[in-house]
Amino acid sequence: MPGQHRLSVDELPAEAHRLIQVGVKSVLLFGLPESKDAEGTAAWADDGIVQQGIRELRRAVGDQLVVIADVCLCEYTSHGHCGILRDTSVDNDATLPLLARSAVSLAAAGADIVAPSAMMDGQVAAIREVLPDTPILAYAAKHASAFYGPFREAADSAPAFGDRRSYQMDPANGREAVSEILADIEEGADMIMVKPALPALDLIEAARAATAVPIAAYQVSGEFAAICAAAERGWLDRRAAALESLTAIARAGAGIIVTYFALEAAGWLREMDR
Ligand SMILES: [Zn+2]
Repeated sequence: MPGQHRLSVDELPAEAHRLIQVGVKSVLLFGLPESKDAEGTAAWADDGIVQQGIRELRRAVGDQLVVIADVCLCEYTSHGHCGILRDTSVDNDATLPLLARSAVSLAAAGADIVAPSAMMDGQVAAIREVLPDTPILAYAAKHASAFYGPFREAADSAPAFGDRRSYQMDPANGREAVSEILADIEEGADMIMVKPALPALDLIEAARAATAVPIAAYQVSGEFAAICAAAERGWLDRRAAALESLTAIARAGAGIIVTYFALEAAGWLREMDR
């Protein structure tokens, strides 16, 4: 991931100040724990890495950044799956209380928004039950995608066996995406996320048409890396390609865009007076 780094807790304040200075208003945190186990217990530890990070951000910048915390187990499980296992498959229902527990811990640390990304059925309802007032950004439409590759390497979270197709969506099934989105809103989601972004522009548009809640789109690591790699070879103009892709995502209906270009793009938009 060119130009992207894992940050330690003590490096967060400087990065946060850089972001605020160019006009980025929110961050989405993912954790890389010191050790992983079969259940992913580090996900809900009071002194977990993201919990520490949130407290440090609050101390450094107060309310100047909206802090969104990813809620999943895959960065914390030794096997790299998003839930706990029974034999060799993910146990959806046994995973729900662990996701709820993680969300409570992250909210207690000071997260403004929790963002469950495990794609377990019922995950939004399970979190809503224990966190009645915390905004939930639900990853409602998350494809199994080849574009997640670079992130998994960076977060050391590639599944040790099998893949995530049993709980992530089939990219060929667009109607399932809309029903997942509506189900998540029904369960109590305040905002919904479509991921990846450019390969799923139609789903962003469909989500926008189907609901009035804010729509977020995640321009994932592989989308970012593909533009960077082509630009490094001189095949694409980095800035123009990045801005065109972000414009397309916004035009499709995303009011919130998660992107590794955020810091740069905010600077470009300033220069362009946009
Ligand atoms: Zn996950």
